[in-house]
Amino acid sequence: MNKPFDISLDSLGAGKAGSNIPAVRLAAEVSPDETRNPPAAAQDLKSFYLETFGCQMNDHDSEKVAGVLLGRGYHAVENPADAHLVLYNTCSIREKAAQKVFARIGDWKTISQNKVIGVLGCVAQQEGEEIFERAPWVSLVCGSASYRRLPELVAQIEAGGRRVMGLSLDTDETFETEFTRRDNPLRAYITIIEGCDYSCAYCVVPHTRGQERSRTSDSVIGEAQRLADAGYTEIQLLGQTVNSYRDPSPRGMNFTALLRAVAAVKGIRRVRFTTSHPNDFHREIVEAIDATPVLCDHVHLPVQSGSTPVLRAMKRTYTRDEYLEKISWIRSARRPISITSDFIVGFPGETEKDFEETLTLLDEAQYDSVFAFKYSPRPNTPAMSMPDAIPEEEKSRRLAILQDHQREIQTQRNEKMVGQAFEVLVDAFYERRGQWAGRTTSNRIINFPSTAPNLLGQYLPVKIVRGGPNSLAGEYVG
Ligand code: SAM
Ligand code: SF4
Repeated sequence: MNKPFDISLDSLGAGKAGSNIPAVRLAAEVSPDETRNPPAAAQDLKSFYLETFGCQMNDHDSEKVAGVLLGRGYHAVENPADAHLVLYNTCSIREKAAQKVFARIGDWKTISQNKVIGVLGCVAQQEGEEIFERAPWVSLVCGSASYRRLPELVAQIEAGGRRVMGLSLDTDETFETEFTRRDNPLRAYITIIEGCDYSCAYCVVPHTRGQERSRTSDSVIGEAQRLADAGYTEIQLLGQTVNSYRDPSPRGMNFTALLRAVAAVKGIRRVRFTTSHPNDFHREIVEAIDATPVLCDHVHLPVQSGSTPVLRAMKRTYTRDEYLEKISWIRSARRPISITSDFIVGFPGETEKDFEETLTLLDEAQYDSVFAFKYSPRPNTPAMSMPDAIPEEEKSRRLAILQDHQREIQTQRNEKMVGQAFEVLVDAFYERRGQWAGRTTSNRIINFPSTAPNLLGQYLPVKIVRGGPNSLAGEYVG
């Protein structure tokens, strides 16, 4: 396996944004002209368009897929009409996400003659060969567990292959690339563990991403070091169950040891991680955050339901009380740590009493924000055939109640923050409002005015002057 390299930040426009990130060039250089504006003659067969649906894992997979293509001399185009290779990296976690993908593929039904259309990711894995039957104009179908084979599959396409497939789930390898295209100039993602060995009754991930497999600690720390050398100061470690990480190398690091090691990389100022499974969330993770300022004071700990019978039916492997005990560890840390979560409402058999327990859990946990979803029946999952399905209107009603309840909690929590000052990493500018936005280490976004010409990429102290349910307004206190 070749040593991985990342393409230079300046080729992604970070330099152009005028941020203070040094535009360091790495050994494997790909210039902006090569990646974005190829010579006209090369613009046909080597052009690609890649659209991503779903989670951060998918976003980062796409950065690596793009890296594989760039490494083979392809160049990205903004408009699918201009591309020879049109790829969709798909999500099938809920039915709506999967439907969206099929609508996109359908757009090419009558106009795909000179193009290669490819479906990657979870929908590809779930639907497999059937995609070719449903959409015969598709030429490439590849699930994420087969991404290691992408160069070979792309070579088959280049040789004129019409139905090229990578669908094996039987792998103990992770997807590491020679190049990775970095789309975010301020935060770099590193996948440390792929797949999932849990079997939550509602979830497609074990069927679409395969069994759990971790990268070696050396490869993760090496990548973090190269990112730091390239000017990144913030890293986010990724995995469907990131804290189930187990180093397959003789060093045998567990997740907490890896966290500490990545935080110790010179030049890295912030380390985030997502998503943590409550079952593998141990007190030592809180101790590491407490002791290591570089580890961000934010934990995303999806609970899904506040009712133990529903958690049991979901096969979540913990009870309400066990989950709340973990919340209490986080709350008793010396540093205030922000907690966020995921919920599913309307799981089959969820009673009104179960749902009320979810609302009381919101009160007890005091989350800073939550993602809440209506249960969506998915193929190949045990919940699909469970009795007592909840009608759609009832799911919508419960979702609205949960969101209203959480909005009140957030309003109160955010109002209490007025007067406090935080360091933010500035990552956006809204020209119309003349406002900058930055993230605290707890992942809160603070909007603040400034007439400075460019603050992107800077760490600045900002004092909160107003708190609403979903946003915080501040002022620069430099
Ligand atoms: N691995 C993470 C965990 O265990 O919490 C979750 C990963 S999943 C990609 C992200 C979220 O999607 C889940 O936390 C859950 O709330 C939601 N989700 C997954 N399957 C779902 C389904 N069938 N219907 C509705 N929401 C679902
Ligand atoms: Fe899906 Fe459960 Fe695995 Fe999370 S832990 S990815 S919800 S099966």
